Amino acid sequence: MSGVAIDKKVKAERGQAQSARGAAVADRKARAKKAAILQYGRIAVQILFFLFAPELFSQAFGAIKEIFTSMGNAAVIQASAFVTKLVILCFATILCGRIFCGWACAFGAVGDWIFQIVQFVLKKLKIKPFRISLKLVPYLQKIKYIILILLLLLCFRQQNAMITKYSPWTPFSLWTAGNFKTAGLEAAIILFLLIVVGMGIHERFFCQFLCPMGAVFSLLPELPFFALKRKKEECIPNCQACRMQCPVKIRLDESPFADGECIRCGRCTAGCPKKNIGLRHK
Ligand code: SF4
Ligand code: SF4
Ligand code: SF4
Repeated sequence: MSGVAIDKKVKAERGQAQSARGAAVADRKARAKKAAILQYGRIAVQILFFLFAPELFSQAFGAIKEIFTSMGNAAVIQASAFVTKLVILCFATILCGRIFCGWACAFGAVGDWIFQIVQFVLKKLKIKPFRISLKLVPYLQKIKYIILILLLLLCFRQQNAMITKYSPWTPFSLWTAGNFKTAGLEAAIILFLLIVVGMGIHERFFCQFLCPMGAVFSLLPELPFFALKRKKEECIPNCQACRMQCPVKIRLDESPFADGECIRCGRCTAGCPKKNIGLRHK
C-alpha cells in the first residue's frame, strides 16, 4: 500500500474513532439530563408530600400498631382513618412497588436531602465519604424485620406508650406538625439524631436498615404490570452502573426486579447506558 493510501486509511480510522467518541459523549449527556429531570421531578413531589402530608408514614405504621394492639386485646379491629391510609398505601405498593417510599414519604425524603447535603459538603472539603461495605448491606437490611417483630410484640402486649417514648418518629412527627415539645422525649430525640448521622453517611440508611414500615412494604407482593424489567443478556459485560446508582444497592444481576428493597426511584432506568431497564421488557 502506498504512503498516501496509508495516510487516508489512518485519517478515516481517526475520523470514525472521533465520531464514536462524540456519540458516546452525546449519549452520556442525554442520560445525565434525563436522570437530572427525573431526580428534580422526584424532589418536587417529595417536597409537596413533605409540606402537605408529612404524617403519612407514621399514620400508616400507627394503623399497624392499632391492629396489633386490638389483637392483643382480643378487640374488634376498627376501620379508622389510619387503617384506611394504610390500606391505600399497601394497595399502591402492591400495584406499583414501593413508590410511596421513593417519592412521597417525608422521612425518606428528609433522609435523601440530608445525604445529598452531607455528600456535597464532603466533596467541597475534599473528604472521602465513608461507605458501608456492599457485602454487609444485604445483612444490615434484615435488621428492620427484627425491629418490626419487636414492635408488633410490644403492641400486642399493650406497650404503645413505650414505643411512642422511644420512637425517633415521635419528635419528627411533632416537629413537622409545628409542635416543638421535647419533655419526656429525650431518648427518642437522641435516637432521631443518631439516625440523622446515619442518613448523612449512608444513602437511605434508616429506610434500608431500620424502618419497620419499610419492612412491611418490602414484604408485600407486587403485581407485575409496573415491575421494572431488564434484559440481562443485553447487558454490557461486568457493568455495574445500575447497582452503583441504586440508593439501596440492589444487585440487579442477582435480584429479580420485584426486590422488596426497590423504592422505584428510577435512577437505574435513567442511568443505564443501554436503555436496558424499563417496564416494557418481557
Ligand atoms: S422505608 Fe420507611 S422511612 Fe423510608 S421511605 Fe419507606 S416508610 Fe418512609
Ligand atoms: S446499567 Fe444497564 S447495561 Fe449496565 S448492568 Fe445495569 S442494566 Fe445492564
Ligand atoms: S433498582 Fe432502580 S428503581 Fe429500584 S431503588 Fe434501585 S435504582 Fe431505584
